[in-house]
Amino acid sequence: MKTIIEPFRIKVVEPIRMTTREEREAALRAAGYNVFLVHADDVLIDLLTDSGTGAMSSEQWAGIMRGDESYAGARSFYRFQDRLREITGFKNILPTHQGRASERILFELVGGPGKVVPNNNHFDTTRANVEHSGAEALDLVIDEGRNPRSRHPFKGNLDPQKLERLFRDVGADRVPLVMVTVTNNSGGGQPVSLENLREIRRICHTYNKPFFLDACRFAENAFFIKKREPGQADRSVAAIVRDMFDLADGATISAKKDGLVNIGGVLLLRDEEMTRRARNLLILTEGFPTYGGLAGRDLEAMAQGFEEVLHEDYLTYRIRSVEYLGEKLLAAGIQIVEPPGGHAVYLDAASFCPHIPPLEFPGQALVCALYRHAGIRAVEIGSVMFGRGDKPAAMELVRLAIPRRVYTQSHIDYVLEAIIELHKIRDQIRGLRIVEQPPALRHFTARFEEL
Ligand SMILES: *Cc1c(COP(=O)(O)O)cnc(C)c1O
Repeated sequence: MKTIIEPFRIKVVEPIRMTTREEREAALRAAGYNVFLVHADDVLIDLLTDSGTGAMSSEQWAGIMRGDESYAGARSFYRFQDRLREITGFKNILPTHQGRASERILFELVGGPGKVVPNNNHFDTTRANVEHSGAEALDLVIDEGRNPRSRHPFKGNLDPQKLERLFRDVGADRVPLVMVTVTNNSGGGQPVSLENLREIRRICHTYNKPFFLDACRFAENAFFIKKREPGQADRSVAAIVRDMFDLADGATISAKKDGLVNIGGVLLLRDEEMTRRARNLLILTEGFPTYGGLAGRDLEAMAQGFEEVLHEDYLTYRIRSVEYLGEKLLAAGIQIVEPPGGHAVYLDAASFCPHIPPLEFPGQALVCALYRHAGIRAVEIGSVMFGRGDKPAAMELVRLAIPRRVYTQSHIDYVLEAIIELHKIRDQIRGLRIVEQPPALRHFTARFEEL
């Protein structure tokens, strides 16, 4: 059979509502042309993020009822801990309310003024937490990772030469750890190879530095390794996942991605002294170490989700549905970051809107146009998110993130049609000007005016 089907049937449905163009125009204006400020009820297909937007399984919902809400030592915590130990091989498993809480604790421990943190590409909250500590966040992805047209199979790889150069230039003392994000979200959802992880780990070893994973999409990354890396095809995804974690000294995870839950995070640590200090910070701002800012039922749903995400029929469907959208857009002459990523398709807004200069935010303009045209919500990953003053970002992208187990193929076909229609009238899309912005993470709350 050629058709790859959704490997589930639907037990609960949630209606979605089409709006008129006038309603969407008014919603956009009220939101200051920032779709983060649009009410979700006014969105037809929501591709803003794949974070916490997935559908839970019947077994996860059953877990919600089984959740043990004891303050300390809850059964649900031990089930969660056992599952994470089994999957990752780590002994110290700290639950947090989401990925950025793990990041905040980690960088409070190792960050600070004068420090430099390398990553393939920092995710926005990771960068913000590094910078909030006073440290500098550096992106050292391979050059292919900055070229939307490159078909490198592992465009998320961190460049070992750039890392060596960093150690030589700034000195190892200033680098508290090296981080690699799998898959590389800000760089197009592109995977990192096992070979690259081993090489980075070797360099970390040479300089005696801890190696950390930002492991939000560890299962999707492992699936790409299985499909693309020589010698990996016959191995199970679970075995590859274990290899990835075995290389690391620690990891931050947002369970809202490959944990298949709506809220939750994890911090994994090997070092006992660091674990002790992290637990103290956890108690200060998240909660007691056996619940970490979550309810027992959340831990139960995470324990189940981290297991289901390793099912290979699920991953086959997951990666294929993203690839389907990406390849059809390319066939229609619309440039995306090639090849399609694991959780999202990234439109190249610079080539979609060549008439809009970077500092008039072509990505943000395209996001607004797509919402106005078809009620689809995407997100800008370009100069609004990563520009600084009059320095634009390296790429102007629009991310169409696909929530897990939520939309069917006809939803995806609708998205395709809408983008292809919009592409035909793209010269009508207008640039934007920022009229109001906060000091950090401005893409969440900035307001704009159309030019
Ligand atoms: C989502 C994400 C985070 C942050 O996790 P939250 O749960 O949103 O706080 C960090 N890194 C990457 C790569 C992510 O995708």
